[in-house]
Amino acid sequence: MKKLEGKIAVVTGASKGIGAAIAKHLAAEGASVVVNYASSKEGADRVVDEIVSDGGKAIAVQANVAQKAEIERLFEKTQQVFGKLDILVNNAGIYENFPLEDITEEHFHKQFDLNVLGLILTSQQGAKHFGATGGSIINISSVVSTLTPPNSSVYSATKAAVDAVTKSLAKELGSRNIRVNSINPGMIETEGTHTAGMIESDFRKQIEAQTPLGRIGQPQDIAPVAVFLASSDSAWITGEALYVTGGLR
Ligand code: NAP
Repeated sequence: MKKLEGKIAVVTGASKGIGAAIAKHLAAEGASVVVNYASSKEGADRVVDEIVSDGGKAIAVQANVAQKAEIERLFEKTQQVFGKLDILVNNAGIYENFPLEDITEEHFHKQFDLNVLGLILTSQQGAKHFGATGGSIINISSVVSTLTPPNSSVYSATKAAVDAVTKSLAKELGSRNIRVNSINPGMIETEGTHTAGMIESDFRKQIEAQTPLGRIGQPQDIAPVAVFLASSDSAWITGEALYVTGGLR
């Protein structure tokens, strides 16, 4: 029997990168998956097609998860199509590295509105839809929440906030058997890190030099950990941050 047979999962920001890999791995273990995206319909449809052609169940749902009304619509659609919710992966996030002198209110609000407020509002709606048996919320944080590299004060602060939210909500929702954990990845090769110029950069070389396992990660390094946190294999784990970084701290 597959680990997530009969479970329903929402993965935010699943049209590419880490979210796409998590959606595919959850589906391969038997979960029906809502593949959320903001603007890349083509990417989300491709993820759904891959899942379906492998014998799984998935739908793509557009929603900007920095906006309360759109988040509500995402869960209404999930309820309408699949009838319940068991797993919520808060993956959608943006990262911009600016030195102190270049930080603007816009840079701050853009990242905090999605990475922190969006994650909280999505958890709020998700928690309403979990059934009597509980559920699992998996927040995609980052190693930067504690590594705090230079030029990343705002982004690192969003992920430190995600770690605090994870621990607080784990205490608040434990009595309903809703577990809340984070995965804190190191640098991962994704569409986003390619676009940000990080994959070809000296920063990547520095990170690899500091990483005991000597390489940056791939989305497939993260996705099985999300399956673990979604499944009953982690039934007694809540409020934890799982660093998946090749040993980088
Ligand atoms: P990515 O390749 O840039 O993909 C981002 C995904 O999020 C896309 O599916 C995008 O959808 C979606 N998204 C963006 N804004 C959204 C919004 N407002 N509403 C709904 N979806 C939205 O990103 P990634 O590198 O895989 O990173 C994913 C997560 O992992 C982020 O939270 C990031 O902070 C975290 N993380 C990444 C790394 C890394 O090195 N890559 C390391 C640590 C942590 P559209 O394509 O439709 O815009």
